[in-house]
Amino acid sequence: MDATRRALLAAAAATPLAACSPRRAIVLGAGVFGSWTATHLQRKGWNVLLVDQMGPANARASSGGESRMTRGTYGRDEIYTRMALASLDEWKRLSARASLPLFHNIGVLFCFGEMIDYARQSIDVHRRLNLPLVELDRSELGRRWPQMNLDGIGFGLFEPQFGALMARRAVAELVARFVAGGGQYRLAHAEPGRESGAVTLDGERHIASAIVYACGPWLAKVFPEVLGARIFVTRQEVAFIAPPDGDNSFEEGHLPGWADFNGGDLYYGFPNLEGRGFKIARDTHGIAFDPDTGERRITEEGAGLLRAFAQMRFPALSGRPFTEFRVCQYENSSNGDFLIDRHPTIAGAFVLGGGSGHGFKHGPEVGRMMAELVDAGRMPDPRFSLATKQTMQARSVL
Ligand SMILES: Cc1cc2nc3c(=O)[nH]c(=O)nc-3n(C[C@H](O)[C@H](O)[C@H](O)COP(=O)(O)OP(=O)(O)OC[C@H]3O[C@@H](n4cnc5c(N)ncnc54)[C@H](O)[C@@H]3O)c2cc1C
Repeated sequence: MDATRRALLAAAAATPLAACSPRRAIVLGAGVFGSWTATHLQRKGWNVLLVDQMGPANARASSGGESRMTRGTYGRDEIYTRMALASLDEWKRLSARASLPLFHNIGVLFCFGEMIDYARQSIDVHRRLNLPLVELDRSELGRRWPQMNLDGIGFGLFEPQFGALMARRAVAELVARFVAGGGQYRLAHAEPGRESGAVTLDGERHIASAIVYACGPWLAKVFPEVLGARIFVTRQEVAFIAPPDGDNSFEEGHLPGWADFNGGDLYYGFPNLEGRGFKIARDTHGIAFDPDTGERRITEEGAGLLRAFAQMRFPALSGRPFTEFRVCQYENSSNGDFLIDRHPTIAGAFVLGGGSGHGFKHGPEVGRMMAELVDAGRMPDPRFSLATKQTMQARSVL
């Protein structure tokens, strides 16, 4: 390091916090949560540096998948229905300005064996909020989607206004717009500062009046003493299958996004969006996973389960080849509620995460809430506080 650089770093290290711009924020992690937080802070007039160790929605990030479902169906958890709806407006606006679609309004179908609390409560919430949710019996399901085998399905709930977000592309677009709007983005690995307002980026000390740690599945490693026992990172497997050649029944417009509550395990997926293949995944939490060292090759067992379900529910997919696999991770809080709070001991530091396998769609609202906490000290709903995060996993948000 040359002398000038050393002198600059020493000066920065000695700079009292009061001397740093009062509205300077550093957001660590350019996944969906960090990127929307940076965007909302920028809208509020903050000078924001967004940092990621591998790039916006990179291949290891939870936001790095091809597609993510957006839906309002959340059983009794109306808060997430409202957040999904408010976020959808932002996603649509972003999509309308992008050169390629970020949102495919294909609708989402939930299939149930029988009436269960989750379905009943979803219907109630949608009625209360005046949101369209169409109840379909077996004959109507069969008429609309003859490519589905309805064994074990009693009825369906169809949400026409939701669908699929092109996840990786959407975050890349958002970050590009953030930078075009004067925000700074930097590729660097961050080490948290234990003193208020400081963080080390690739060995250089930086200061800001607010530092937001939006590190997704790495969050528990960044703050092991606070979050090590409160974030549960699990391995999740996803597969894509080539539909029969020339068959349009697996295309957008002919098949919605779907989630199948029948038979214990929840499976979900998408039609052949943008020719990437029919997507299928199992929502059941996998084994514990390290986002740095975890093996990202799908298991034989996992591929077998996905194939078996796909060909049971969609018989025309029998024997069709897999086109792609992905191994990603959920960063679960104890019950599935997000974490949007201050760090308990480091002034000016904030913790953001706990996406719990359903966070992507909510990125705009989560980012807005974190930005309001940073900017105005406005606490979000108590469900998102650190204090509510337990050390025992008991998933209740679906
Ligand atoms: C298989 C799968 C399917 C899913 N399906 C859905 C769905 O259908 N609908 C839905 O709404 N949600 C879904 N989710 C959940 C959703 O994708 C996540 O909740 C969301 O992407 C989490 O975003 P994040 O910004 O918190 O984390 P991430 O996207 O992981 O971003 C964290 C970022 O922080 C960076 N970082 C970490 N540590 C450091 C450091 N020290 N220095 C610098 N940078 C750092 C990482 O590189 C990373 O880019 C799914 C998740 C998975 C894995």
